[in-house]
Amino acid sequence: MAEKFQPLSVSKLDNDYDVIVIGSGGTGLSAAIQANELGMKTVVLEKEEELGGNTNRASSGMNAAETNVQLQHGVIDNVADFYHETYQDGGRLNDKDMLGYFVYHTAPAIDWLADHGIKLDDITITGGMSRKRTHRPASMAPIGGFLVKSLLEVVQKENIPVFNKVRVNKLLQDDEGKVIGVEANADGLIKTIHAKAVILATGGFGASKEYMKRFRPDLADYKTTNQPGATGDGLKLAEGVGGELMQMDLVQVHPTVQQDNPHVYLIGEAVRGEGAILVNAEGNRFVNELNTRKIVSNAITALPEHSAYLIFDQGIRDHAKAIEFYDKVGLVVHGDTIEDLAKNLNMDPENLKKTVATWNEAVGNHDDKEFHRTTGMDRGITKPGFFAIHIAPAIHYTMGGIHINTKTQVLDGNGDVIKGLYAAGEVAGGLHGNNRVGGNSIAETIVFGRQAGQQVTVYARGLK
Ligand SMILES: Cc1cc2nc3c(=O)[nH]c(=O)nc-3n(C[C@H](O)[C@H](O)[C@H](O)COP(=O)(O)OP(=O)(O)OC[C@H]3O[C@@H](n4cnc5c(N)ncnc54)[C@H](O)[C@@H]3O)c2cc1C
Repeated sequence: MAEKFQPLSVSKLDNDYDVIVIGSGGTGLSAAIQANELGMKTVVLEKEEELGGNTNRASSGMNAAETNVQLQHGVIDNVADFYHETYQDGGRLNDKDMLGYFVYHTAPAIDWLADHGIKLDDITITGGMSRKRTHRPASMAPIGGFLVKSLLEVVQKENIPVFNKVRVNKLLQDDEGKVIGVEANADGLIKTIHAKAVILATGGFGASKEYMKRFRPDLADYKTTNQPGATGDGLKLAEGVGGELMQMDLVQVHPTVQQDNPHVYLIGEAVRGEGAILVNAEGNRFVNELNTRKIVSNAITALPEHSAYLIFDQGIRDHAKAIEFYDKVGLVVHGDTIEDLAKNLNMDPENLKKTVATWNEAVGNHDDKEFHRTTGMDRGITKPGFFAIHIAPAIHYTMGGIHINTKTQVLDGNGDVIKGLYAAGEVAGGLHGNNRVGGNSIAETIVFGRQAGQQVTVYARGLK
């Protein structure tokens, strides 16, 4: 097994690079690898001690259409369906150019990862999708930790310098307004670093009370699944040089978050994708569990108790490895039988038994008469033991962000490009409309991270 990646000491930080990448999540690491492979002297600056941002936390997978992996699993897909489903699920508010670029570049992104030894050979499904297009490692391990560790292995092999505990506070501009570097707090030391171009890969603002109060005061007291560093720094940096922000009120609340303890845990969509159902405190289903996150979250919030239970069996557990972790940290209630599980949940055993039996019949006939669910029905809830996780909605993803074009160039309020400044990943707005589909964000980090790495090279070399 590879040794844990060690960021460099700040004494090794140069004053000059071709490209500065701010942020060490999926976007920053893929942008840095791409730019480095195109010959750019690249550096990655990360403010937190731990590398990987929210990417580290991603659990379900990475969406892509028309991949060889899908065909190997007998899934015949097409990018047009991927486009239309994402557009519908996003309330038709997605930037169409961004979405078009995205869907056509997801399969090449899966190949690019594989070319770097990062294989996502298994597939599952997330809410709002008609087909299995959520790629994950063959081990079915959570995607995020796997991706960050694997990308860092590539970074190490390519000798790309990565610094942690370096917080970028300001972008530097020349007299014409071109971005020419950054000012950063490097572990207590204020440092000026110059570059031909800067990529903002700083992630979203899901953990910022300040931004929530400004744009979504109704969510200011919600808990969040995000890492503490998801404070929207990139938005401030872009605004500071005239960058436009867009769709800032579009914040995604995730339906299935365990939040009974101080530490909040997202229960990945793959658990439902592999067959789990949701029941209320009485043990009744109340929604198509694989409808969009927005619809499922609203249905839970509308329950008198504002929370619900995911119910699943050993068969589902065998196909969603993250459950082992949820169990290890004490989030999973057990039962030898459905009645036993219901008793442990203080739920009417006969009622839960009836709900599960009706669901198993729906799976057998592939006909969910109650809530018209059509996906995540590969298996019923039949194999002992039986399990439950108590969940409720929490802030999860910020769809709004910096206005960019398909070249990842940051735009000002007039739609003009701010020269030398690029943004990609969760910090950028527009791709997802009013509801991000699970699995599309990790795909966005690789697709637009790579694009940013290519476009800074075009710019730095004065190419067209
Ligand atoms: C619990 C959870 C589960 C998820 N599961 C999935 C999933 O299965 N599939 C999917 O598609 N998406 C998933 N998502 C969403 C997805 O993980 C993120 O949207 C995506 O990883 C964002 O990547 P990024 O590179 O843009 O930002 P991040 O990974 O958040 O990285 C940004 C980095 O920039 C750093 N930074 C910020 N400001 C500064 C600064 N001023 N100076 C220096 N560094 C700075 C941050 O500390 C952070 O490390 C999940 C999200 C969460 C929270």
